[in-house]
Amino acid sequence: MAQARESDNEERVVRHFINGREAAGSGKRSLPIHNPASGRIIGTVNLADVATTRQAIAAAREALPGWSRVTPLNRARVMFRFRDLVEQHADDISRLITMEHGKVFEDARGELTRGLEVVEFACGIPQLLKGEHSLNVGTDVDSHSMMQPVGVCAGITPFNFPAMVPMWMFPVAIACGNTFVLKPSEKDPGVSLYLAELLREAGLPDGVFNVLHGDKEAVDVLLTDPDVAAVSFVGSTPIAEYVYSTGCAHGKRVQALGGAKNHLVVMPDADPEQAASALMGAGYGSAGERCMAISVAVAVGDRVADALVEELRPRVEGLRIGDGLAERGLEMGPLISREHLDKVTGYVALGIEEGAEAVVDGRQRTFPELDGYFTGGTLFDRVTTDMRIYREEIFGPVLCVVRVPDYDTAVRIVNEHEFGNGTAIFTRDGDAARQFSQDIQVGMVGVNVPIPVPMAFHSFGGWKRSLFGPLHMHGPDGVRFYTRMKTVTARWPKGVRAGAGSEFFMPTMK
Ligand code: NAD
Repeated sequence: MAQARESDNEERVVRHFINGREAAGSGKRSLPIHNPASGRIIGTVNLADVATTRQAIAAAREALPGWSRVTPLNRARVMFRFRDLVEQHADDISRLITMEHGKVFEDARGELTRGLEVVEFACGIPQLLKGEHSLNVGTDVDSHSMMQPVGVCAGITPFNFPAMVPMWMFPVAIACGNTFVLKPSEKDPGVSLYLAELLREAGLPDGVFNVLHGDKEAVDVLLTDPDVAAVSFVGSTPIAEYVYSTGCAHGKRVQALGGAKNHLVVMPDADPEQAASALMGAGYGSAGERCMAISVAVAVGDRVADALVEELRPRVEGLRIGDGLAERGLEMGPLISREHLDKVTGYVALGIEEGAEAVVDGRQRTFPELDGYFTGGTLFDRVTTDMRIYREEIFGPVLCVVRVPDYDTAVRIVNEHEFGNGTAIFTRDGDAARQFSQDIQVGMVGVNVPIPVPMAFHSFGGWKRSLFGPLHMHGPDGVRFYTRMKTVTARWPKGVRAGAGSEFFMPTMK
């Protein structure tokens, strides 16, 4: 585990994890890993070439027959041990997340907890794989359905949750009896290696879980290799769409979660102070780099909008921003990279050009002591739905206030947006909340809850261009995605003894 635990060290090399051990691979390319809070290089990550990717797939293929035959109870026992090990190392893993991603330590710890909840869900796999049984579907004929593993599964994950998003996938996949190849983000790859080592320590046989670092070259092999049966993807919408269409064209089952632009509707009867508090965490936590971040506050009526902006302004100006490794109690860290910082500040400039009112311009906040990719929080008022800062995903600490005259307009603009990941309504009116939950074209809805991320035993996923494929992640949909249903219809010897003759017509049960 030494590799993953080293601190800020330029010499650190993050390698692949294939067949139970670290592997350099035959790829000639590598990328630097940065600490976004300092801007310094803290290691390099090897990028897999085609041969190394095939090697990881082959390891998973070879481990499959053995692992799929391990009883669900014994697979669950590995998950129980893994859960305890992650808990034991939680602070260490969280520091690694903060070091490579930049999110503040408490936020990193929270992400890990949400990931662990999926492991806890996977510990219940014997109960989840019970299947169905019908006695006497016909005279002396019984039917039962069994849920069998699909085979080698691949997971391709984004930078913004280097622990939680992979943990949405592999615990369920492995507990269902599949083997797994994880291709994490090349921007913060260290955590996945750490988790691989803990899985080995928990007793997972070699080859069941493999980590492959890389970019498009590795992803394209995962999407086309006939030995990969299923692909789970989380990332931006253009890549999600590409992964979905390419994977499906090669006969795989695919679930591909994409980008977001989440709206929080503030009704006239909502308490503006409560709504503002909720918006601060949901809009600026993790520097807005969350797929469930709220990036649009839809204020119903000018009175609500004025009160909300008044509440938000001092809070946004006073955001506690800094290096999460050096300080505790911070609210926000840096963005992931220099390139992303430029993109986000470019959107702030664009918003002003488009005519939005910059109540707080985060670019004006300076960080003389910090060399990393920092910007302050930005608050825009009077944003309109034709502006690019409204239509496009910025993925940074930028909150747009859109003023609408009534509830119907609020619902209409949420429904007309191309993304449909998460949304929320803040109100004291149960009828409005109930109607909103039913009318809104979004996969995850909060009622006075700003970030309605479903718990592990429910499923996570958006609608519209936030998700390609029918099945969401973890929870019941996760089990459906990682299993294939087989239905056996059986008649036992008595029927044969009675001399069942040939039947030439579509069989019907008598
Ligand atoms: P990204 O799409 O750039 O990368 C995601 C993964 O795809 C990475 O592993 C990356 O290496 C790989 N990839 C990148 N370009 C590729 C290409 N051309 N071909 C094949 N693979 C490629 O996303 P990101 O910047 O790492 O993450 C941020 C995005 O993820 C945001 O859009 C965010 O909304 C989204 N996200 C969505 C959810 C969700 O649940 N819907 C959750 C987290 C993040």
